[in-house]
Amino acid sequence: MRLICSFLLLLWPLAAAEQADWIWSARYVVTMDAGRRVIENGAVAIQGDRIVGVGTQSEIGSKFQARQRIRAPEALIAPGLINAHTHAPMSLFRGVADDLKLQDWLEKFIFPAEAKSVTPDFVRAGTRLACLEMALGGTTTFADMYYFEDVIAEAAKECGLRGVLGETILNFPAPDAKTPQDALAFTERFIRRFQGDPLIVPAVAPHALYTNTDESLRAARTLANRYGVPLITHLSETKQERDDAIAKQGKSPAQVFQSLGMFDGRTVAAHCVWLDDADIKLLAAKGVGVAHCPSSNMKLASGVAPVVKMLAAGIAVGLGTDGPAGSNNDTDMFEEMDLAAKLQKVITLDPQVLPATQALEMATILGARALGMEKEIGSLESGKRADLIAVRLDAPHAVPLYNVYSQMVYALKAGDVEHVMVNGRLIVRAGRMLTLDQAKVLADAAKHGAKVSSSLRP
Ligand SMILES: [Zn+2]
Repeated sequence: MRLICSFLLLLWPLAAAEQADWIWSARYVVTMDAGRRVIENGAVAIQGDRIVGVGTQSEIGSKFQARQRIRAPEALIAPGLINAHTHAPMSLFRGVADDLKLQDWLEKFIFPAEAKSVTPDFVRAGTRLACLEMALGGTTTFADMYYFEDVIAEAAKECGLRGVLGETILNFPAPDAKTPQDALAFTERFIRRFQGDPLIVPAVAPHALYTNTDESLRAARTLANRYGVPLITHLSETKQERDDAIAKQGKSPAQVFQSLGMFDGRTVAAHCVWLDDADIKLLAAKGVGVAHCPSSNMKLASGVAPVVKMLAAGIAVGLGTDGPAGSNNDTDMFEEMDLAAKLQKVITLDPQVLPATQALEMATILGARALGMEKEIGSLESGKRADLIAVRLDAPHAVPLYNVYSQMVYALKAGDVEHVMVNGRLIVRAGRMLTLDQAKVLADAAKHGAKVSSSLRP
């Protein structure tokens, strides 16, 4: 009897432990929660699609019994990075034409190439390529607008990435919609198909003020509000856009949007480079989320967005890569964090503005807020979706380590990402994509690249 009791007592801690699908443990867990806790020798427990525990390894080990484990003693665990603005299939136009003015790049290269090349097959291959690059670099959520957005959603789901996706609405013929009405009808079908999906948040995506009419913009807002989905757009990207709006309508692009009711509902605006103080006040009052794209703004010489002022006004400013063609030739969020911090220092001549902590916030919890998803993603907390990454800390550029935020933003690289989980599904293990055949994705991309090259020959 005594033997049996001792045996049962030995088993008791195991029986009392809660079941979890996974326990990830690492040298640090960078939570990005409200207290910005960094837990040394930390661990995260995951059950189904949710995080169920975050704490020290001994706390998590005594509370949970896991079926599978990721042990990364020379790594840090962080929330998955959020790319708040991109056009994923444009990865197949990477480097097709660079160092040009936006108008020349669009009119001489991209529009002709798109007219000849963009098909569902192209979009699927380009999205797979972009998702491969994003996932291997630690991005777990991306916000996107392009054409054949249903194919982008299918490819994102296949790769296992989370997407806020909207079909581009334009006032001129696009590869899959001849009119803005066609694009709006496509968008409504798209919303009905993907609303409630565990990975896809459908959105309405009027391209910009200068590529739409007042009618198509109003119709886009109405459609977004009818289904309770976000509206994503480009806003005040260039000086010319601002000057034109003031010349034609006597108002800044943000004020024109306001007068059309465009901000009356969840809105995510990319760029926001040319905002004055009144515009910033307006965006803050309306709760508009901003996707700041430093690489794109630098490469296209668009200017420097007033990020410090926007953050001080309480605007949720996330980070986006834009591109990956022309405006930025990759989807590397580590680079965007680094540039976001440094660009504000250059423009303000103050090294203290936008410190590393804030740059990491922009790539995680603030990006989630910009997309209206802060209750679901953006930090490592019990109850949130299990979107997390482990980043190696043993490369030469990662040693020694005094401050995890400084290391993440100024030293670590996309190539240091070791493991990636989205919605409880492990999609990258030991730097290898589990959901795609990498060799096939790259071969398909090269095949499409050759077609694009021949389409541009006179
Ligand atoms: Zn864009």
